[in-house]
Amino acid sequence: MHVLLATAELSPLVKVGGLGDAVAGLRSALLAAGVEVTTVLPDYSGWKLGGERLVKLDVPAWAGPASARFGTLPDGTPLTLVKVPGIARSHPYLDEDGQGWTDNPARFMAFAAAVASVAEVTDPDLVHANDWHVGPTLGFLPESMPTVFTIHNLAYQGRTDGTWLEVIPRRPEAFEWWGDTNPLSGAIALADKVVTVSPNYAREILTSEFGAGLDGPLEARAPDLVGITNGIDTDVWDPATDPLLPTHFHAEDLHGRRELRSELLSRVGWRGADPVIGVVTRLTHQKGVDLAMATAPYLEGMGARLLVLGSGDRALADQVRSHVEQYPDRVHFWEGYDEASARLIFAGADLLAMPSRFEPCGLNQMQAMRYGSIPVATAVGGLVDTIVDADVDSVHGTGFLAKDVTVAGMVDAFHRSVRALRSPKRRATIMHNGMTTDWSWTVPAARYREIYEAAIS
Ligand code: ADP
Repeated sequence: MHVLLATAELSPLVKVGGLGDAVAGLRSALLAAGVEVTTVLPDYSGWKLGGERLVKLDVPAWAGPASARFGTLPDGTPLTLVKVPGIARSHPYLDEDGQGWTDNPARFMAFAAAVASVAEVTDPDLVHANDWHVGPTLGFLPESMPTVFTIHNLAYQGRTDGTWLEVIPRRPEAFEWWGDTNPLSGAIALADKVVTVSPNYAREILTSEFGAGLDGPLEARAPDLVGITNGIDTDVWDPATDPLLPTHFHAEDLHGRRELRSELLSRVGWRGADPVIGVVTRLTHQKGVDLAMATAPYLEGMGARLLVLGSGDRALADQVRSHVEQYPDRVHFWEGYDEASARLIFAGADLLAMPSRFEPCGLNQMQAMRYGSIPVATAVGGLVDTIVDADVDSVHGTGFLAKDVTVAGMVDAFHRSVRALRSPKRRATIMHNGMTTDWSWTVPAARYREIYEAAIS
C-alpha cells in the first residue's frame, strides 16, 4: 500500500503542538509495518535532504511557482518538501509578535493545491490529509482518489474569506461556511473516511458543546467518522534511554527517577517531600492553565506545589506570573517551550495536571505516565480514553479525572491524587500501571491501516 501523508508539522523537524508528534509517530509505525509512505511537508526552512530530486509541480497560476524536493532524512526515510510562494518562514503559522501571518490563507491554500499535484506525480493508493492546512487538498484531488482526513483539533479550522471558494475545483460549496471558506467543513464532507484522535472526542464533536460549529457537518458523516487514539513514539519517549535526561530509569527500577525529582526540585529552588504537580502546556484557553492557577489558594492546605512550563498567550502568562508572586512557595513558572525541561518534569514530578476544557487526544498525559508522573486531568476527550481513574478502578487505575471542568473539579481531583500519593503501595500501583501500558503507535497504526483499506475499497 502506498499512502501520501500530508501535514503542516512533522516532529522533530517542525512541531508546534500534538499534530507534529502524532503524524511523525503514525508515519514511523506505518513505515515499520512496510507501508510505502510519501510524507509531504511545507518547505519552511530549506532543510537538506539526502539524494534530492527536484520536481516542478503543475499548479494553478495563483498557487505557483511550486516545486517539490523528494529525498531522505538522515534516518533514511523518505520525505517530500513542497515549496510554494510565501511558505518559507521562521515559524509555520506565527510572526514575531505571536500573531498569525497575514498571508496564511494564501500560503496554505497554495500548499494544499500543491499536495494534490504531488499526488498526481506519485500516484499513491490513498491520500491521508491532516488538519485544516491540507483540508482543501481534497477539493483539488480527482474524485477517484481515495482519501482519509484526520481532525487533530476541531478548534482550528483555517476559516477565511469566501473568495477562496472560487479556486477550489471540486465541490466548493462544501467548503462554503456562512459566506466564508472553511477548509475543515469541506474536508469533512469530501473525505471517504474522517478520523479524529480519540473515540471519546469522536462522540463529543457531534454535540454543539464540543462541535466548534461543525457538529452538523460531522453528524452528516457520522457513519464514516472514526476515533483512533494517538500513540506516542515510545523510542523517543523512553525514560530508560532519553538523551535529554541526565539519569535514566524504568518501571522496575525507579532509583534514577528519585534523582531526577531532586534535580527538578533543586532547579526550582524547592525542598521537601510535598508533591510537585507539573503542567506542560501551550498557554491557550483550551488548556485551562487559569483553572490550575485558581487552585493556588488550596495548595498549602493540600501540601502540594504547582510547576508550570508553558508558552503562548501573554495574558495567561501574566496570570501565572502573578500567582508566582502571590504564592512563591507553591507556584513556579518556567516560561517557554523547552523539550528538556518538559521531559524533566515528566520524569521528576509526582503528578501532571491537564485541566483542559477540551482535549482531542492529548499527548502530555501519555508522556507523563510513561515517565512515571501520575496524570490529574479533566474528564474530556482523549483524556477519558487514556486515563483510568484510580478511585474508580483501584486495580487498573492510572490517574485521576475531574468530572467537572471547573476549579472545584480540579481541586477535588488534586485532593484525591495527593491522598493516593500518601500510600506508597497505591502510588506504586498507579505509577506502574501507567508506565507499563503500551502507548506505542503499533495498535493505532494498525487501526489506520484498516481505515485506509476501507477507504480504498
Ligand atoms: P496540543 O497539541 O494541543 O498542544 P498535546 O498534549 O496533544 O497538546 O501535545 C503537546 C505536545 O507539545 C506534547 O508533546 C508536549 O509535551 C509538548 N509541549 C507542550 N507545551 C510544551 C512546552 N512549553 N515545552 C515543551 N514541550 C511542550
